Amino acid sequence: AVRIVGGRKSFRGTSVLSGIDLTVDDGEFVAVLGRSGSGKTTLLRVLAGLETLDAGSLEWRDESGGERPNTGVVFQRALLMPWLTVEENIRFGRRFAAHRSSFENDHALGLLRRFGLDGLTGRYPDQLSGGQAQRVAIIRAAAIRPRLLLLDEPFSALDPAVRGELRNWLAELAAELGITVVLVTHDVDEALELADRIVLLSAAGRIGGEWQLDSGLGGADPDRRAEILTHF
Ligand code: ATP
Repeated sequence: AVRIVGGRKSFRGTSVLSGIDLTVDDGEFVAVLGRSGSGKTTLLRVLAGLETLDAGSLEWRDESGGERPNTGVVFQRALLMPWLTVEENIRFGRRFAAHRSSFENDHALGLLRRFGLDGLTGRYPDQLSGGQAQRVAIIRAAAIRPRLLLLDEPFSALDPAVRGELRNWLAELAAELGITVVLVTHDVDEALELADRIVLLSAAGRIGGEWQLDSGLGGADPDRRAEILTHF
């Protein structure tokens, strides 16, 4: 599990996160929902270790003895190296992982196969559709077997039909890998469909509400959706 207690962050005197208390348990899929500017990306960057808190603490509770475990991060646009093929991009991603092995390289390629993307291994990023590029970026991040997979609006640049398809795909991937996921989104339906729990970030980086979702119900519960929207 990872836990933030009393997390605060300001940029040039402007408070972006104020008093964040958040625990993400192993295997959980948490959606951080919020409007533009609410501090979602900053919170994700803190979890990724790309940003430090001004006050409060970030703790990892696991067998690694408090050491920061691997995290995988995927942003809005797939940051694939344009001069490398899909397969090389995935292997390159592995090079930065703390624990790598040929077994895990095979794992990455196995994931491509398992999710029907093995036909893309020889292609360059500019030969992929937006949806394909995001799938490859997510598999690259998942292939390092991160303790935490962090996704920052990974589908928001895609057209709505592809977005829906990728949500289903991500749900399947996360369930199959049993991976812990934090997804940042401004899309209530995306959060409802994918997450076990929704954490709402309101203006000024405060937690404005938390909802545990009953598995299977997801976006099908209109009362829950309406309730979340009143806080949004
Ligand atoms: P969006 O959905 O638009 O990406 P967000 O909820 O992810 O927004 P953040 O990107 O975390 O929000 O930004 C929150 C606020 O912090 C914004 O006002 C932003 O301008 C500011 N901010 C973020 N990073 C920095 C930085 N490195 N320096 C200065 N200000 C920053």
